[in-house]
Amino acid sequence: MKIISILITIFFISVSAVSQTKSPKDFLGYELGEHFTRHHRVIEYFQHVAATNNNIKLIKYGETYEKRPLYLAVITSQTNFDNLESLQSNHLKTAGVIDGNASNDIPVTWLSYNVHGNEAVSTEAAMKTLFSLVDTKNQQTKKWLENTIVIIDPCINPDGRDRYVNWYNRYANSPNNINPDSKEHHEPWPGGRANHYLFDLNRDWAWATQIESQSRLVEYNKWMPNVHVDFHEQGVDNPYYFAPAAEPYHEVITAFQREFQVTIGKNHAKYFDKNGWLYFTKEWFDLLYPSYGDTYPMYNGAIGMTYEQGGSGRAGLGITTSEGGLLTLKDRIAHHYTTGLSTIEISSLNAEKLMKEFADYFHKAINNPKGKYKSFVISGTNDIDKINSVRKLLDRHEIKYGTSKSTASVKGFNYQFNKNQTIKLSTNDLVINMNQPKSNLIKALFEPQAKLKDSATYDITAWSLPYARGLKAYALSNTVAIKNVEKKPTNETVFGVAKPYAYLSKWNSVADATFLGYLLEQKIKVRFSTLPFTIEGKEYAAGSLIITRTGNEKLSNKFDEIVRKAAEKFNRSLNAVASGMVTKGKDFGSATVHYLKAPKVALLSGSGVSSLGFGEIWHFFEQQIKYPVTVIDTDYFNRVNLNKYDVLILPNGWYGSKLDKDKLAELKTWVQKGGRLIAIDRALGIFAKSKEFSLSNYKDDDEKKEKEKGEKALKEKLELEAYDNLERKSISNLITGSIFKATMDNTHPLGFGYDKSYHTLRLNSNHYAYLKDGVNVSVIKNKSNLVSGFAGDNALKNIDKSLVFGVEKIGRGAVIYLADNPLFRSFWENGKLVFCNAVFMVGQ
Ligand SMILES: [Zn+2]
Repeated sequence: MKIISILITIFFISVSAVSQTKSPKDFLGYELGEHFTRHHRVIEYFQHVAATNNNIKLIKYGETYEKRPLYLAVITSQTNFDNLESLQSNHLKTAGVIDGNASNDIPVTWLSYNVHGNEAVSTEAAMKTLFSLVDTKNQQTKKWLENTIVIIDPCINPDGRDRYVNWYNRYANSPNNINPDSKEHHEPWPGGRANHYLFDLNRDWAWATQIESQSRLVEYNKWMPNVHVDFHEQGVDNPYYFAPAAEPYHEVITAFQREFQVTIGKNHAKYFDKNGWLYFTKEWFDLLYPSYGDTYPMYNGAIGMTYEQGGSGRAGLGITTSEGGLLTLKDRIAHHYTTGLSTIEISSLNAEKLMKEFADYFHKAINNPKGKYKSFVISGTNDIDKINSVRKLLDRHEIKYGTSKSTASVKGFNYQFNKNQTIKLSTNDLVINMNQPKSNLIKALFEPQAKLKDSATYDITAWSLPYARGLKAYALSNTVAIKNVEKKPTNETVFGVAKPYAYLSKWNSVADATFLGYLLEQKIKVRFSTLPFTIEGKEYAAGSLIITRTGNEKLSNKFDEIVRKAAEKFNRSLNAVASGMVTKGKDFGSATVHYLKAPKVALLSGSGVSSLGFGEIWHFFEQQIKYPVTVIDTDYFNRVNLNKYDVLILPNGWYGSKLDKDKLAELKTWVQKGGRLIAIDRALGIFAKSKEFSLSNYKDDDEKKEKEKGEKALKEKLELEAYDNLERKSISNLITGSIFKATMDNTHPLGFGYDKSYHTLRLNSNHYAYLKDGVNVSVIKNKSNLVSGFAGDNALKNIDKSLVFGVEKIGRGAVIYLADNPLFRSFWENGKLVFCNAVFMVGQ
C-alpha cells in the first residue's frame, strides 16, 4: 500500500512537472488568433511560463509613460542557464565591452515584438514562440537552446498596443466582420502605432528620446545580441517580407552581415515555400538611417532584421484582401511564429560561425575602425548644456570618450564651416576616439555625410550629430590621446550680492527655457533684453533673462529664495547684480528690455493634425520643458474661445478641411488682437494658399504660373515613363531629410541664442518664398547650402531663396512660420530653442 502511494506520488509529481506550463490557449482560455490579448495578460502568461520553468529569467527593464511594465524573457538550456551570468559576461568580453578573455561563449538571438502598437499580431506570436521553447514535446527547440541564448521582448510598445487592442475589442463585431468597410478595420486618430507621446519607437533607437528606448538600451548593452529581429506588419495586401534587406546599405555593414541575412532568408524561404506562402526580400526596407530596430543592431555588431507581415491596424481578426482572399490573425501568427523559430534554428546551426564573426567584428571595430576619421572632437567652447546633453546620449550608447590630453594644432574637418582646416586642440575638448567596440555606431552617428549609393531610401538621409546639436566639432584623421572625464561640467552660480537689483541668466539652450518656464510657473516676473549688453565685465547676448526685484515686490523675501533655489535645481549660471545700469548697451529700465508675460499655450490635436507632429510638441512641453499646455482637438476647436490663450500651435498637419476661410479670418482677428500663432511644416500650406497672409509658395505670380506649368509637364512625362523608372523620377522631386546651412538673424527674438547661421533639417520639397511683409529670420539662400544628405535635382531647383523660419506681424500679434519642423522626432536638438523663442519671446 505504502509503495503504491509513493509510486502514485512520484507519478503525480512527474506528470504535474510536465503539465505545469500551460499553453497560451489553456492559460488564456481562448486559442491564439481568436481574440487580441491585452498587455497585462501577456505579461501574466510570461510570468506563468517563467514560474514553471527553471531555464527562464524574466527581467523587468522599465515602465512606459502610462506605467505598463516592460519585460524581457531570457531562455536557454538548463546547463547554459545554470551558467548564465558567466555566459553573459563572456559575451561582453568577446565584444570588448568589458575587459578579459572569453573562454566559453554562445550566440544571443533577440526577438523584439510589437514596436508598432497596432501591428498587434507580434505579441500574440511572441506567446506561441515562447511556449514552443519550453514545450516538453518539442525536441527541436530543446536542441537549439543547447548552444544559443534566446531573448524575447513580447512588447516594446505596450501603451500603443493596448490603445489598439482595447479599441478593437470594444468595436469589433461578434463574430468579427471580414468586410473591409467594417468599423473594426478603421482605427481612429491617432491609431495605436506610436507610444504614449505618439513617437514612432522604430525611429528612436539612436536618439533615445523616449522612456521605452532609454530603458531598452540599458538592457541591450548588457547582452549585445548576435541576431536581432524587429517584428512588424505592413499593408493588408502585402506578402510577408524578410531578410535580406533592400539597398542602400550603410557602408559600415560588413560582408558577413550581408551574407548572413541571406542565410537566414533562405531558411525562412524553405518553410514559406513548403506552405505555399507568398513573400518578398531585398525590397523597400533599406539599411541606412541608424535609428531603426534593424540598423541600430547592425551598427552594434548584430545581424539586425525587420520582418513584415501583411495586416497591421487594419486587419483585425480577419479581413478580405483586395484579391478576395481571407487574411486571419491566425495566419499572421503562423507566419511570425515560423520566422521567429527559423531565426533561432539558424542561429543554433551556425552558432560557431556567428561567434567567430562576432569576435572578428569587434576586433576590427577596435583595432581597425572603418572610415577616414579616427576621432571626433567636440570643442570645449560649446555651451555647457550642449556638451552635457551630448554626453548623456553617448552614455546611453556606451560610447567611450574623454578630454583631450593634447593642445596641438591638427588638420581636420570643421563641421560648422563644412571644410578642412587647422584646429587647435584644447584640454577642455571632448574626444571620441574610434578605437573602441562601438566605432561603427560612432561613424554612423558622427560622420558628416553618410555615403549613399542609392537614393531610394525609406527614410531621411542626413542626421550627423554635430549638425543636429549645433556643436562646434571636428572630425580628425588621427587618434587623440585622452584622459578620463570624471564629472560633468557645471554652470557657475554667482550670488555675490545679498539683495541684488536683478538676477541675470543666459538664453541659449532648452535648459534655459526649462528654467524660465519654472520661474513663470512660480509667478516670478521675468524680463529679457532685446539687445546685447555688458554688466560687471560680463557680456550678455540678446534674449538674456533679467529678473529684477522690481515687479516681484509682492513676494518680498521669498523672491530671492525662489530664484536661487530654481537656479540650483536647474544648474543655471545666475549672476546677481547690484545695479540696473549697464556698462555697455541699454539699462534694465529701457524700453528695449521687455517684460515677459507667461504665455497661455494651446496646441491643436486630432484629425487633420499629424499625430507624430502633435506628439513631438506634447512631449516637449510635458517631458522636456515641463510647461503647461492645453491640448485642443480639431473636432471642437471651432467652439473654443481663443481669447483665453496667448499662443496657438498648429503642428505639422493638413488643415484644409479643418480651417476654412471663415475660421482663418477669425484666427487673423485673434492675431490682430495680440495672439501668437505658430505654424509648423505642412501647417504652413493653408497660410500660403490664403490671400490674408503674406506667406507664399512663389516669389510672384509669374513664377507661380511657370512652376505650375512645370509641375503639369512633369506629371505628364511621368505618366509616359516606363514603369520601373518611376520610382527614380519621383525621387528627383524629393528631399528625404537633408541638412542645409541657413542664415539666422539672431537680432530677432525668434533667433535669440543662436549664431549667425543655423543647420536646418529639410524634410520635404515644399518651398516657401521670402516673406514680403514680415521678417525672414532664417532662410536658405541657394542650393550650394546643401551640407549633407540626399536632395533630388528638381527639389534643389526649388530650394533657392526659401524660407526656413519667418515672422509676420499682424496688428498686435504675429504669425510664426516654421517651415522646417525644429522638433522632428525630437532629435534635432539645435532647433528646439527656435521653438522656445516662438513660444516665449516673439511678440512680447
Ligand atoms: Zn511596423
